[in-house]
Parts: sequence; structure tokens; C-alpha cells
Amino acid sequence: MPSTLVIGGGPAGLAAAWAAVQSGDAVTLLDDNPALGGQIWRGEIPARYRRFLDPRITIRTGVQIHSATQLPKADRIILATGTRERFLPFPGWTLPHVLGAGGLQAMVKSGLPIAGKRVVVAGAGPLLLAVAAYLRKRGAKIVLVAEQAPYQRVSRFTQSLWRTPGKLLQAAQLALGLRYRTDAWPLRADPGSVTIQGHGVLPCDYLACGFGLVTNTELPELLGCRVDTGAVITDSKQRTTVPHIHFAGAGSVDRSILEGQIAGFDLERARALYPARDAAVRFDRRIDEAFQLRSELSTLATPETIICRCEDVPFSAVWQQRDWRSAKLQTRCGMGPCQGRICGPALEHLCGWPAASVRPPIFPTRLENLLDLRD
Ligand SMILES: Cc1cc2nc3c(=O)[nH]c(=O)nc-3n(C[C@H](O)[C@H](O)[C@H](O)COP(=O)(O)OP(=O)(O)OC[C@H]3O[C@@H](n4cnc5c(N)ncnc54)[C@H](O)[C@@H]3O)c2cc1C
Repeated sequence: MPSTLVIGGGPAGLAAAWAAVQSGDAVTLLDDNPALGGQIWRGEIPARYRRFLDPRITIRTGVQIHSATQLPKADRIILATGTRERFLPFPGWTLPHVLGAGGLQAMVKSGLPIAGKRVVVAGAGPLLLAVAAYLRKRGAKIVLVAEQAPYQRVSRFTQSLWRTPGKLLQAAQLALGLRYRTDAWPLRADPGSVTIQGHGVLPCDYLACGFGLVTNTELPELLGCRVDTGAVITDSKQRTTVPHIHFAGAGSVDRSILEGQIAGFDLERARALYPARDAAVRFDRRIDEAFQLRSELSTLATPETIICRCEDVPFSAVWQQRDWRSAKLQTRCGMGPCQGRICGPALEHLCGWPAASVRPPIFPTRLENLLDLRD
């Protein structure tokens, strides 16, 4: 029986594992979280997708793949390693009340009390609305949802939603009653407040901030898959440039599920899903275009603003460097526990530096894991 190894237990990985089992493979799925579901479901898999938890799949949670040598052998590997939030530095962004938008949502899902707290949600993209709506449902007072994109672009995108009535309804339900403003972004945060472009100083208990999502390309890169401008290159069957490795997900939840199924199914069943997947890809492109980051965001950091939070490196220390590699060597920027996961995408936006090449381990790990990588 052919074997398939799936890395990542979010919507894409679960769909891929399920589809591979339907195709007759022996499937193992690994995820580093204690519960399955990835960023969006976080252990609470919606009823309509519980069929993905086929008992024939061998599931191992709490397992982090940090290097290529650690991978169990399999005829086929499906990488579904998802995304993380993009943060951009501005004065005060390291203060304790400033959190990632998805990060605050995750903390509330894990029990952080939010009822009665004043929250400003700021940054870029539709995730801001999803987070604000969720926090409001849990009792938070949403002071403002500040979207950096210009009004014309967001308005054009909203008008285009008539082509996808389901998404129009979803957006309207999320936005209902929220103070949502375009052309607005954080200029600085101070203890207990944030200054938003066009809206002045707003007192708040939390600033939930995220400037879109960055694909986790480290593991695909480590395995030799071609990555271009932050995306893993795949063909229509989700095959990467390494013959037995597929990549799926890292887009909207609908698209991630379709890509996972296409990666897991045999060619014939996969082909039937191409039109739906291609439509989802086109929709994601429209989102990217509407909410692309404006140039003013790269001018917010001052010389004193910390860029690398792990190693306390200020902007003044990195801006004269030639590239990411020399910034690392000269200033230790990106050398701390997050291994450039936060400052890398930020510096890409600020200085135009593409990310440096990836080396194992891609996550900080215990010495015992390095001593016996195959255990
Ligand atoms: C913080 C955050 C919050 C989000 N909230 C929402 C939301 O509320 N609504 C919405 O529509 N979209 C949300 N999104 C977007 C969401 O990620 C996608 O819609 C969807 O979850 C993508 O599914 P996926 O399976 O590709 O990736 P993910 O859901 O990210 O799943 C990837 C999984 O792989 C695991 N993994 C990654 N690397 C490794 C490794 N090396 N070893 C082992 N396991 C690994 C991860 O821990 C994760 O569990 C959020 C994104 C982020 C980053």
C-alpha cells in the first residue's frame, strides 16, 4: 500500500489526509499543536468537516518537524504548513498591549478574558473584520477597525462581491455595527493608547494588529521545493518542483481545503476540483490586490524602533546593511528564537530584502531532539 505523510493539521492538511485515505494510501498526519484544526479551527473542527478525521489516518499531534532528516519515510509527502501573521514595526509596537490580530483571537479562544476590554483592530485585509467580529461576540468593545488600504480599492472589492453572494453576506454580517475605516493605520502606540492616521489618539486596552499573512515556506525550502516571492511553486495537482512532494493551503479556508483534497486524491478525482480551486485562487488574488500594503507603512519605524524583538536590534543598526545576510552577521537581527519569522517579512517590506536561505533547525528545539533526529 503506498504511504503518504502529511505535515500540518489545519484545513489543508486534514483535507489532504482524508483524500489520500480515500485513494487507498496508508496516511500519517503530523502537527506541532496539541490539537488539530490549524489557525482557524484550533481544535474545534466544524461538524461539516469532521469526516476528515477518518479513523484510518494515523494522527500524531505535538510533533514539530524542524529539519529534513527528521521526516519519516513515505512514498509521498504533502506539506500543509500554513501561514503566520505579518507584523510591521512602528514606534511602540513592542508594548505589551500590542498583539497580533489573529494572535489576540487565539489567546481569547484559549481563555484570555476580553469582555469589557477596549480593542482597536488595525492592519490589512479581511482577517481584521473576522477578528473584530469574534472579539465583539466575546464581549470586547471594538473602538475601531483601521484598514490601511485606500477607500477606492476596498470599495471596488466590496462591489465586486456581488459575483460571490455567499461572501458578500458573510462580509456584511461581520461588518454590521463595527466602526470600520479605510486609509487608517497605526502611527504609534503608547501605554494604554494608539495613534491612528486620520483618527488621532484612541485609548484602548489592546491593539490587535496584523498586516496580512506570510506563507510558512521554511520546510518546503529546506526540502528543496522552489519558492518564489513568498509562495511555494506548484502545478495544477499541487505538486512542488520536488517530484514526490506536494504543497497545499496557506490561502483562504475554502481554497486550502480544495488544495488539500487535490493534493491527496488520485489525478482523476483531483481534476474534478480544479475549476473550484482556480476560482478560489482568483478570489484570493482579488483580496491581495485590494488590501496590498501602502508605501507609507515602510516609513513608520524611527531609528530607535526595535526591529528584531528577540535580539533587541533597533532600526538604526540595520538600515545601513547591504542585505539580510549582512544584517544577521553584523547585528544578530533574525538570530533569536523566532529565527527571523517576525523581523524577516518586516524587513522585506521596509528594505526590500528577500529572506535569507533557510537552515535547520527551522524552529528552536530541544537539544535531545537534535541528538536523535529520527526518534
Ligand atoms: C493567527 C492566524 C489566525 C487566523 N484566523 C483566521 C480566522 O479567524 N478566519 C479565517 O478565515 N482565516 C484565519 N486565518 C487564515 C487561515 O490560516 C487560513 O484561512 C487557513 O487556516 C489556512 O489553512 P492551512 O491548513 O493552510 O494552514 P493552517 O491552518 O495554518 O495549518 C497549518 C498547520 O501546520 C502546522 N505546522 C506548520 N509547520 C509545521 C512543522 N514544521 N511541523 C509540524 N507542524 C507544522 C501548524 O502549527 C498548523 O497547525 C488565520 C491565520 C493566522 C496566521
